[in-house]
Parts: sequence; structure tokens; C-alpha cells
Amino acid sequence: MGDEFKIFIRRLTGGKQEDIEERLAPDFIDPQDPEIIFEGLVEIKGVAELAGETLVLRLKVDVVVTLSCAVCCERVKLPLHLASFCHTEESEGLRSGVFDFCEPLREAILLELPMRAECNQERCPHRAHLSPFLIGESYGCTT
Ligand SMILES: [Zn+2]
Repeated sequence: MGDEFKIFIRRLTGGKQEDIEERLAPDFIDPQDPEIIFEGLVEIKGVAELAGETLVLRLKVDVVVTLSCAVCCERVKLPLHLASFCHTEESEGLRSGVFDFCEPLREAILLELPMRAECNQERCPHRAHLSPFLIGESYGCTT
């Protein structure tokens, strides 16, 4: 992992903002689930600044993820958009002078994942074949 996620605090002293604009390979997200695959690049845009002793990071994040349809197990492609990821870090965490936002960003992206996905804009054509008794239970992918 390189410096893509590092904020150098001394660059922000005196009220300076740092623009963040990155397009990064999604490997860092590492969802630890083979059903969840991030595609293309993660687009990150935003600013970092100091508010007193606190580092404030505000980012917009876009990435495409593919999941398995909960009904038929087809792959479903979903754009994820974090409109306002905000992270603050108190000065104790900043003694090294560098803050690495990889981990908080990774967590925010994983939190944005839907609990379940369905193909065909949430209207899986196979849903009709399911017994109504199954709806609401844990049906579908057992891989
Ligand atoms: Zn489906």
C-alpha cells in the first residue's frame, strides 16, 4: 500500500485545505466474502482540513460492486455512492504527523453494501417461482 491514503498534517496547518482526488484499485476494500466483488476503480474526491486540533476529512466515494442475486444467484452490478463520508480524528491519533484513512474508508464502503441484492432492479424474474412460504426466509444462494 502506497501513500494514497495518507494525509500529512503539517500541510494543513495555517488553515490550508488539501484536495483529495484519487482513483484507486479496489483491493484495499477486501470484503472477505467471495460473493462481493468490487469492479473498476474507486473514485475518491474531497478535502482534508484541520478544525483546531481535529483533522476533518470529507469525501465522496464512487465504486461499482457486484453481488449475487438473493433469489437466483445471478450476478448483480450495483453502483455504490457515498455522498458524504466524513471522518474526524483527534490530535492524539495524529502525533506521527500522518493520518492514513484507508481503514475508516474501507469500513464506510462496507457499511454501504446492501444486506441483500436482487437482480433486475430488485424484481428478480425467478422470484415468482418461489413458494410464498419462502419469502422472508433465508432462501437462495447456499454456496
Ligand atoms: Zn435474480
